[in-house]
Parts: sequence; C-alpha cells; structure tokens
Amino acid sequence: MHNLNDPQLLKNFSYINGSWHSSAGDIAVNNPATGKTVAKVSNAGVIETELAIKAAKDAFKAWSAKSANERAALLRNWFNLMMDNLDDLGRILTLEQGKPLAEAKGEVAYGAAFIEWFAEEGKRVYGDTIPAPSGDKRIVVIKQPIGVVAAITPWNFPNAMIARKAAAALASGCTFVVRPATQTPLSALAMAELAERAGIPAGVFNVVVGDDARGMGKVLTEHEDVAKFTFTGSTGVGKSLISQCASTVKKVSMELGGNAPFIVFDDADIDAAVAGALVSKYRNAGQTCVCTNRILVQEGVLAEFTEKFVAAVKGLSLGDGLEEGVTIGPMITAQAVDDVKKLIDASISAGAQLALGDYDTNLGESFLAPTVLTGVTNDMPIANNEIFGPVSPIISFKNEEEAIAIANDTEFGLAAYFYSRDIGRIWRVAEGVDFGMVGINEGIISNAAAPFGGMKQSGNGREGSKYGLDDYLEIKYLCMGGLDK
Ligand code: NAP
Repeated sequence: MHNLNDPQLLKNFSYINGSWHSSAGDIAVNNPATGKTVAKVSNAGVIETELAIKAAKDAFKAWSAKSANERAALLRNWFNLMMDNLDDLGRILTLEQGKPLAEAKGEVAYGAAFIEWFAEEGKRVYGDTIPAPSGDKRIVVIKQPIGVVAAITPWNFPNAMIARKAAAALASGCTFVVRPATQTPLSALAMAELAERAGIPAGVFNVVVGDDARGMGKVLTEHEDVAKFTFTGSTGVGKSLISQCASTVKKVSMELGGNAPFIVFDDADIDAAVAGALVSKYRNAGQTCVCTNRILVQEGVLAEFTEKFVAAVKGLSLGDGLEEGVTIGPMITAQAVDDVKKLIDASISAGAQLALGDYDTNLGESFLAPTVLTGVTNDMPIANNEIFGPVSPIISFKNEEEAIAIANDTEFGLAAYFYSRDIGRIWRVAEGVDFGMVGINEGIISNAAAPFGGMKQSGNGREGSKYGLDDYLEIKYLCMGGLDK
C-alpha cells in the first residue's frame, strides 16, 4: 500500500523488551499532505511506559557490562541497516511528517551518522589520573554509564531526534526508553525493528507510543529507576519537564526552541547569503529548531539582498513531499498553519509588508506558501516568537553593534548565522552572539562530529561530537590511599 520494499518496517505496536506490544485503542497516523490515514498504531500509556522502564532496568546490567567494542559492533549493524533501508525509512518519514522525500532520506542518513559516530566514540570513554596532594595516595577518575535513560522527542525530525540521543546512550552503556511524538511514531518503530535485526538485546532500546503525553511524561520524568531524562521539544514543555525531574534529581538535558538570527553584512557575498538563508529558512517548511527566524540585513545591501532572496523563494516548489520536484512540503497540521498566519497578520497590522506569500495555495489546509515579510522590527510577533513555519521576516540594521544587539534580543540561544568576508568582524560577531551554534558563511551546520545544543532558554547539554557522551556518563573519583606502606 505504501510502496515499501520491506513492508515489515511499518509497525503498529510499541516495542518493549524486544517484543511488539499491543494495547487497547488505536492512534491514527495521518499524512499531513493528504489528511489520509497512513497507519493505525496501538495506543500505549502509563502501564506500558512503566513496563518499558522495567525492561530497560533489567537489561542495563548485561548491556553496560559489554565491552565498548561489542556495543560498537551492534551499533554499526544498526547503522548499516538504516542505510540499507534508507528508501523505505525516508518514505515512512515523508508519509507521517510531510517533508520532501529527498529531505526525509537526508534526515535518516543524518540520524544514522550519529549511530556510526557514537559506535566509535564509545571506545574513547577515557578516564584520568590526577597527581594526588600526598605521596601515599593516587587519584583515579573513571566514567561509567548513568543507567536507564528516558527520552521524549518531537515530530519535526521523527528519526534523527531519536538517533542522536539513543546512539550516545547505547554507546555509553545505558539502556533507553523513548516516547516519540504522537503524530510521528512510525519512524521510531521502524528504528526499533532495525535495532532488533541488528542484534541489540531485548530491553536495551524501547519505544512506547501513546497519546497520553502528560501521563507518560510524568512516568518518564519521575520514575526512580530512570537516571537521566533527555527531551527535544518546545521550551514551555521543557521547563515543566525539568521541574518534574527535580523530584528524583535526575540528570537532565534539553534541546528546546530557537529564534535564529541570520545576519547579512554589507561586505557579504550576497549570492551565497541568499542561498544560505533559503536552505536554513525553508528546510522542513521552516519547522526546525535551527531554522532562520529573523533575517537581519545591513542597510547598504538591503535592496539587493531582498530582491535576490524573494526571487529565490519564488523558485521553491510547494506540494506533497512524495511528488517529484517538490522542494517544500506541508506543515504538520492545519492548526500549525493557522498559528503562523496569525503571526503574519499581527505583524502586517504592526507595519510589516508582504513581499511574497499567498494564503490560497489550493493544496489543502496544511499548506502555507513560502512567505517573505519586509519592514519588520524585532518587537513584532513574527520576530519575537519562534515561527516554526515558512516565513522570512527581514529586519534592517545600520552597524555591527546594532546587529549583535538585535540578534541577542531574545530569550533563545540555539543557532545563529552570519555572512561577512571581514576576518576581524567574523571573530567579533562569532564571540558576541549568545548562541550555542554559529554558522559563518554557512546555512546548514549540523553533523555528527559537531556539538549540537543551545544556550539561554534553548536548553542545556550537547548532542553529537566528542561531548555528546558526557550527558550519559557519571564521573567517579577513586581515591587510593595507604600506598606508602
Ligand atoms: P512540544 O509540543 O514541546 O512536543 C514535543 C514532545 O513533547 C512531543 O512528543 C509531545 O507529545 C511531548 N509533550 C507535549 N506536552 C507534554 C507534556 N506536558 N508532558 C510530556 N510530554 C509532552 O514541541 P513540538 O511542537 O512537537 O516540537 C517543536 C519544538 O521542538 C520547537 O520549539 C522546536 O524548536 C523544538 N525542537 C528543538 C530541537 C533542538 O534540538 N533544540 C530540535 C527539534 C525541535 P505529543 O506529540 O503527544 O504532543
């Protein structure tokens, strides 16, 4: 029905302790492009979440006792299977999430790259020896897996947001329970099927699918057998989950919302800046946490940049992500479209101008045409909210100092981008912006080798890179005394 090479990758049940677990009731997973139901998935809840935590706890002893090499071999099997099944995983992802097929396959390859990366990085969990303050002692530091990890992930990257966390957790020797977003459980379940085929033992990787976000979230954040909680999603929900984790003093990492500035200075290569802004804004229909949220352009190049940028945005092709040639898909729901339209309308009422955009796409209620607004100021709703949609607000500025001030005038601190050819300016601005990731003459910055994460209210912790294991490890200090006898 869905033209999969391997129909076994489409699963309908939660994956707990190495088996597929049916529950009372179903959740319909709908294709955002057509509104049609792609699959029905059994609706798990609090009980299944507790079962998955128990399975992860029971599996921890044997998994953490494996050598890093043994874990790496299994993770590499998983990586290989994801790459071997790229076409099917991409198709499942587009069907449930909407992004164009090429982008969906790109996400699967990106997610798999974290599994490959951490398979190797797990072999490098080095400790330390530290000179002791007296001759009869030795100080040794070792790192050990923290235990059971619980995760909640969003719908905008149904594969990669799980892979980034699970790969680091499993490579460290932790076991894992994830609750994926209700709208996009199929990619998570396909990953579970491949984890099983890869030989990852029962209980090490568990997926619980259910629409009781609060109830299941409460278990994942408050259960005493969960040592670490990791979340990717909105800042508002993240804050409440942090407070829930306080009752058991869990280690917490948060990948939350963003409000990325994209700054174009007078000395920039304007064509490169246009290309960078296009991809950083309209990828995934503007629904990524690192999407450009505000385009800041210096007055001297405002007219040239705006003209070229609007022309480039007109070249995007809006439609069903499974259709050939489509470069921008639907938004996740009609409600998401309405929310973004409200931001556009409120900003136009406040004085912004519509340079490009058309509400009437004739494609369906989940589609919003790529939009460009000019004459925007940083106090307008389109600039001071995370848009999470295909809209570019253009704000002008006079000088470098003003650009940095506008860029930092947000509670978020995830990603920022700027274009300049001046080496002095590049260092000043890179150090002056309060964001965890900075693209300099680059619009796409994330990869497995680099630390992904935010400052301020965009979260804490880092995913990927050599730092990504830290969130899943305990540091243990061994003091060896009596050595002079
Ligand atoms: P969201 O509403 O916060 O939902 C994210 C996840 O949390 C979903 O699985 C959701 O379940 C669950 N959830 C919602 N309310 C909950 C509660 N009270 N208790 C427990 N779980 C709860 O965010 P979203 O709209 O799906 O995702 C977009 C947000 O994620 C944006 O702000 C974006 O910037 C952020 N994001 C950040 C990163 C990053 O790495 N920093 C990456 C991607 C996305 P349901 O699906 O059942 O609602």
